[in-house]
Amino acid sequence: MKLKFVISFGGHSAHPKRSMRGGALLKAGLLMLGLGFGLGLGNSVWAASVEGVRLWKAPDHTRFVFDLNVATPHHVFMLDNPHRVVVDLEKTTMQTLLGHLDYSDTFVSQIRSAKQKNGNLRVVFDLTQALKPKSFSLSPNDQYGHRLVIDLYNNAPKVVKTETNIAKVKSNNEFRNVIVAIDAGHGGEDPGAIGKKGSKEKDIVLAIARQLERLMKKEKGITPVLIRDGDYYLKLDKRRQLAREKYNADMFISIHADAFKDQRAHGASVFTLSRSGATSGMARYLAEKANQSDIVGGVITEEENELMRRVLVDLAMEGVLEHSFYLGKHILEELGDVSALHKKRVEQAGFRVLKSPEMVSLLVETGFISNPKEEKLLRTKAYQKKLARAVLSGTREYFTRYPLPGTYYAWKKQHSGQFARHTIKKGDTLSTIANYYHVPVKHLREVNQIETDVIRVGKVLLIPQG
Ligand SMILES: [Zn+2]
Repeated sequence: MKLKFVISFGGHSAHPKRSMRGGALLKAGLLMLGLGFGLGLGNSVWAASVEGVRLWKAPDHTRFVFDLNVATPHHVFMLDNPHRVVVDLEKTTMQTLLGHLDYSDTFVSQIRSAKQKNGNLRVVFDLTQALKPKSFSLSPNDQYGHRLVIDLYNNAPKVVKTETNIAKVKSNNEFRNVIVAIDAGHGGEDPGAIGKKGSKEKDIVLAIARQLERLMKKEKGITPVLIRDGDYYLKLDKRRQLAREKYNADMFISIHADAFKDQRAHGASVFTLSRSGATSGMARYLAEKANQSDIVGGVITEEENELMRRVLVDLAMEGVLEHSFYLGKHILEELGDVSALHKKRVEQAGFRVLKSPEMVSLLVETGFISNPKEEKLLRTKAYQKKLARAVLSGTREYFTRYPLPGTYYAWKKQHSGQFARHTIKKGDTLSTIANYYHVPVKHLREVNQIETDVIRVGKVLLIPQG
């Protein structure tokens, strides 16, 4: 408030000659001076200060975030010989130490700051190779105040061929693996939801994503890839782009654990992108929150909205939305075994991270971090693993039912003539079924990829012959 007031007076004094002369000018000056004293203004209000610095390491850039007491203009430029990036902040003082920053494993070798004669603050990043700086300001949010973000991008050439790309082409003579992109929501400067105990959504979902990756690595026919593998933020568009272009993914699963104002809200839910609005108030609420995540990277423009509408039409035509829904149903069913469900059906809403025409895409809300009981559960490794296992089982079910041509699942379906089928009835156990067909339980497990003792009534098991 104070600052706004003063700035509006500054506007007058900038063009004094136009409207004021002599006494009037003096009076205005005195008026400003008077106001200055009256409001307790000194240098301190005019000068911004850097009150904290954070650093996030992403694979393609390093992000520095300066906490400021007020928004302040800045300039960024590069210098060569040696490579440096220089940031000048107008009329700013440094009120924090830079020594605590851990920039090992980055291309930054040193950070220095110095006050300049004109009152500006100069921050110099010494680099071991040329990096491309990008900068922008962020307005205050729940967690932080005014911020200046400096991203230093590596000039690494675009990855054309990755291991996974190659894996997709020649994992086997007869079939290829399906590639599942696992996207842990939020990260870095964006913590996501925060629980009563202080758990951050970004940490919990990364832990679940890593569990899922580990399990999928062991699964025949699936190659998992982690979209975010560390504590840094990725724009929503970038997440899909990585899945599509870098990894050639067949499927995209985004993992979250959000909060709601009512602590009683609990249970897991599964979302797909909607063609026409959200299926419930909660779906709309969560989608809005998830999309806000990107305020770090910019706002949604009309143009983007139009693009979104068009993408939705394409998706509908390709049947990707329908298939995302089938996948959602299978995963939700499995989640129901390990967690309470918030809604018993797959919900739909306008999640931006899901709008990929080529990929079956899904967002799993693993629970509500705002519910104290669930927060406690979500923090445990055992529960994270259970959730991951449920997502894997649902994915396997989906691919078994709708095998992509050329994949292991298609191959298995082709060869399933070699198997008898048994529909699980109430009271069946793995050992009673194995006994009945005279096959070892171990084989039954292998063929059907069953890890636990839980089997579901109505599910069809393949029975190896002989
Ligand atoms: Zn989230």
